[in-house]
Amino acid sequence: MYNGEGELLYKVWEIAAERLKKRLHTETYAQWFQNIIPVKLDDDKIVLGVSDDFFADWLEDNYGDFLAESLAEVDGLNYGYSFETGHRQEIKNSVESAAKSKPKKADKPAPSATVPNGCLSRHNFDNFVVGEENRYAYTAAKTASENPGVYNPLYIYGGTGIGKTHLLQAVAHQVLSKNSRARIKYTTCEEFLNHYVDSLRTKSHSEFRSAVRDVDLLLVDDVHLLANKTQLQEEFFNTFNSLYNQNKQIILTSDKQPCEIEGLEARLVSRFESGVTTEISPPGFETRLAILKMMQEDHLVKLEDEILLFLASNISSSVRRLKGALLRLVAFASAMSESKITLERAEMLLHKLLEEENASKIISIDSIQRAVAEHFDIRLNDIMSPKRPKNIAEPRMVAMYLCRRMTHFSFPEIGSAFEKNHATVMNAMKKVPELCKKNESLRRSVSLLERQLQG
Ligand code: ADP
Ligand code: MG
Repeated sequence: MYNGEGELLYKVWEIAAERLKKRLHTETYAQWFQNIIPVKLDDDKIVLGVSDDFFADWLEDNYGDFLAESLAEVDGLNYGYSFETGHRQEIKNSVESAAKSKPKKADKPAPSATVPNGCLSRHNFDNFVVGEENRYAYTAAKTASENPGVYNPLYIYGGTGIGKTHLLQAVAHQVLSKNSRARIKYTTCEEFLNHYVDSLRTKSHSEFRSAVRDVDLLLVDDVHLLANKTQLQEEFFNTFNSLYNQNKQIILTSDKQPCEIEGLEARLVSRFESGVTTEISPPGFETRLAILKMMQEDHLVKLEDEILLFLASNISSSVRRLKGALLRLVAFASAMSESKITLERAEMLLHKLLEEENASKIISIDSIQRAVAEHFDIRLNDIMSPKRPKNIAEPRMVAMYLCRRMTHFSFPEIGSAFEKNHATVMNAMKKVPELCKKNESLRRSVSLLERQLQG
């Protein structure tokens, strides 16, 4: 990029950012736009650097229209935009200085002294709403932070957007608040990989090892991403053993149980399972409502109870989406200076999100039953009927298990789709992983179905 082009890039983004700042609540801007990095201009399109797909999708879903409008008629042109993922904060700082953006307002005292690298300060235990679905995971995380080494490793798994990262980082804050000298390493599996690869490239392997091994607490987010990366698994295995042998606390999160991670070496599976493994499930209605009420406290615009009930009833797939929906309404209200968001307005603003939410509910049970029937070559009717021929007992359990893991339906709801009660589904949740441990072919079937259904 030659200089003039660079200047134009920053200029365009500066103008758009100013417009966004004016329209959005300060907090919304800070949360979603402040970290965006202008990467380049492709003709009349600006490429915006963000951290990951979630961020990009979320921005697109919730602020796509705001972004488009902010880029309209900049120097006589209507700029389009696209996202590029994988950008980190450090880069942003250098870009910011290059862009000679205005000096920042007096920021709060830098939290870096008290917040471990990569952790968000709001991801603490106080901000975590505890309900039936996450109580065990919460308690386990709390215990690990208060009595490191007791639950070792602690392995927290569950679907996306339901608080795994939040809990993991909460442990970091808690440990640090008790002991400001504690050496804590929080890393995502992806960062672990990048750091490792960089260390090979720059021949700084001992620095890398020291960064992940000379610590009192190692927190690794999304370890399912270790799958099929043989060399990384070897490194991880050694890191794990080194810390474990010194009785240093290790906490891992994942979207699956260790035995369900296809392409994870048996020795890692057994290490991961050797401590405490706890599932975190999507929060139920009461927890969702409590989360919304807690979030309200952070925002100047308060939504009516009716709206909160509406959100809590209709968005059940993940807390991330729930928060996203609330933020969208709050941002809209503050941008439009609307003191009251009506139900109609909320439905309109969240139209797309609600459609997706419903689609995921309608399709799932049925599509899971069909996929399982097809895979095991049995009739769909047999899966759904209360009869119990022996050859269908296992596939039926697998179908229930997948329904629970891949949809947002409750135990009773899933039970009734199979003309069974909730206890049968709960039993399947316990039985299927046990059977998978003993039966490699069943484990492969479950894993294959999972991937197939995820599309
Ligand atoms: P995961 O790692 O499971 O994908 P996150 O921990 O990133 O999910 O959670 C997504 C968002 O939802 C975060 O903003 C997090 O703070 C919030 N969140 C999740 N569970 C809770 C909870 N029980 N109470 C408050 N906030 C929550
Ligand atoms: Mg996470």
